[in-house]
Amino acid sequence: MSRASIRSISGPVVHARASGPFRLREAVEVGPQGLLGEVVRLHDDDIVVQVYEDTTGLRPGVDVVGRGLPLAIRLGPGLLGNIFDGLLRPLGGSDSAFVAPGMHRAPPASFAFEPRVAAGEVLGPGAVFAVVTGAAGRAQRCVCPPDVGGEVASIATAGDYREDATVCTLRLADGSTRELAMGHDWPVRTPRPVRRRLPADAPLVTGQRVIDSLFPVAQGGRAAVPGGFGTGKTVLLEALAKGCNADVIVYLGCGERGNEMAGVLEEFPQLTDPKSGRPLMERTVIIANTSNMPVAAREASIYCAITVAEYFRDQGLDVALMADSTSRWAEALREVSGRFGELPGEGGYPAYLSSRLADFYERAALVETLGGARGSVTVIGAISPPSGDLSEPVTSHTKRYVKAFWTLDAKRAQARFYPAVHPLQSYAEDARDFAPWWAANGNGDWLKLRRRFLTLLDDQARLERMARIIGKDALPLRQQLTLFCADLVNDALLRQSAFSPVDRVCSPRRQALMMRLVGRFIDLAEAAVAAGVHPDRLAELPSLRPLQRMGEDIPDAELARFETLEANLDRDFAEVMRTHEADDATHR
Ligand code: ADP
Repeated sequence: MSRASIRSISGPVVHARASGPFRLREAVEVGPQGLLGEVVRLHDDDIVVQVYEDTTGLRPGVDVVGRGLPLAIRLGPGLLGNIFDGLLRPLGGSDSAFVAPGMHRAPPASFAFEPRVAAGEVLGPGAVFAVVTGAAGRAQRCVCPPDVGGEVASIATAGDYREDATVCTLRLADGSTRELAMGHDWPVRTPRPVRRRLPADAPLVTGQRVIDSLFPVAQGGRAAVPGGFGTGKTVLLEALAKGCNADVIVYLGCGERGNEMAGVLEEFPQLTDPKSGRPLMERTVIIANTSNMPVAAREASIYCAITVAEYFRDQGLDVALMADSTSRWAEALREVSGRFGELPGEGGYPAYLSSRLADFYERAALVETLGGARGSVTVIGAISPPSGDLSEPVTSHTKRYVKAFWTLDAKRAQARFYPAVHPLQSYAEDARDFAPWWAANGNGDWLKLRRRFLTLLDDQARLERMARIIGKDALPLRQQLTLFCADLVNDALLRQSAFSPVDRVCSPRRQALMMRLVGRFIDLAEAAVAAGVHPDRLAELPSLRPLQRMGEDIPDAELARFETLEANLDRDFAEVMRTHEADDATHR
């Protein structure tokens, strides 16, 4: 075991003189309390250690002891339904927000174990060997670690076992044996291997119309949500966590203020999963590193979170990871880098900011797992750019690695237009690929309608500028109609309250009907204006208000009401055309 003696301490950074060989990225225990740290630099006999716990009280001369292995976390059935700190140590609820110094993992719990293989069977890495069920009744799979495979020498019979008990023994190719528990350790900075990455073919269904209908992200894709303070990042991420169609949610609260995180910690355990009717927490893992927790652990928390997500992916599940906020993570990187005395780059961030962001986002994927199943990790990262400046380094580097970008706009948020996703400053690179998925889900016209709405919104921005100069009434009627229809797209489709019991989650079927109705209105309105009807007339249609309010009014259980709305719309327009023709005839 390698040892070193502390020479100096600067916040989370410890310099020590080594008396044995250390490896880069080796996990270490520091001082009498065994504070957890990681070797981040080696120079002759000197090592630099990043300590993930509060170093107050540590003094020169005390020991740093190497563990001989990289920083790893224990992945197992005890993760679901629980709340952890940035190093995956249990926080045990909002009342005990701190873990004891030097505590490295949760005390093991017991689970009902059911073997799925028999002695003599040969298992490859990542193969499923058992199913375990926790107290909450949710079944999980036990998989062989990605680097272990062999013949089953023995397997435990069905029953309750402690998480850390040996439940399976494998005979490896070299004749040695390896004991497996329900879970296993994995180094957080190493992506878990997969058989292959698969091309994304389906969107993550988020239940948020502005995302699913206009700026979808792939299941296994990556998205970023930049937005200034108070623009709704946290509310949106929480809405996605509650409403998206992932099997498992990993929610990382990274460097947010304690009281904001407390909201999440208090609210989540009380939420019900709309799909199963069971507590949402049963399929959620929360990792919290609030701004008052040690800064270096924040740097590690993002890798812990994605490793946890990959672990569930390897069980053949679809996982969504929400990280709020990657800016606070980058600030931790900057702070620790400053303590190392590294040369600051753009915005004071270290030069490796971009590659670290890439390391994180690149781990999102739809894959064929080592065990042959299909699983995915979708990553959604919030960014809080200082003063909402999207050209700052974290935002601009993140843009290179994400496929969907949902910019939250301060003006929209001020006008209480939620979610404040700005349609012209947001994009989804994969959108086209999802047209077949939408066609199979009741919206064959999805791509056409999406393009049409986006064009309208784009034209609206241009025409509004013009209207400010010459006045709206001076615009040609067709352009006045464009403004009218763009408002309708915003009000009827894109506005969606995260707090509305009816509308906080919108199913694809309901989205398809809403898109179709708005498209229908625009068709009819264009025909009417082309026939000479003044756009102002449209504002008086009795069915306009129900159309604007359909998101709030028509729940998923009453989709037939969309047909009534469409019939009313057709009737209103027929009436408009009839009176218009009659007026015309009188004037002639
Ligand atoms: P941020 O995390 O960007 O600082 P929050 O997510 O805390 O901002 O949002 C600030 C406030 O805006 C919330 O308290 C809520 O009142 C309102 N809000 C944000 N998003 C929505 C939404 N989708 N629906 C309704 N209200 C919202």
